[in-house]
Amino acid sequence: MEGDCIFCRIINGEAKADFVYQGENIVAFRDIKPSAPVHILVVPKKHIRSMNDLEEQDAFILKEMLFTAKEIAREQGTDQAGYKLVFNVERGGGQYVFHLHLHILGGWELGKHPRLAGMPV
Ligand code: AMP
Repeated sequence: MEGDCIFCRIINGEAKADFVYQGENIVAFRDIKPSAPVHILVVPKKHIRSMNDLEEQDAFILKEMLFTAKEIAREQGTDQAGYKLVFNVERGGGQYVFHLHLHILGGWELGKHPRLAGMPV
């Protein structure tokens, strides 16, 4: 727990979030400023600053994050159409909250993904 970390505060119940999953090691909640129709953050309870700080002993956390993300994508109905999984790493990678998290971005209509604009699908 880092006192000034917003994600630690959410995990400890000191700040609100719209949870979609709460497990022993991992939680997931909706992004407060979504960049996609479905935008959910998968977050380990353990405070790890970024991917750079992930240690071998925490490999199980990464595995749980990925399998949880896959399951949430299915529950949100975006698994078949497709989705993105993104880790922003440190400032240069666009990281803003320094508590490891995995973005699930999806829910675009087929062919409406911003990257595919104008391309035949
Ligand atoms: P990143 O740029 O990878 O660090 O992404 C951090 C994400 O956390 C951003 O998409 C923010 O919109 C989101 N975020 C920040 N504060 C909150 C919050 N209190 N509840 C939910 N999402 C948040």
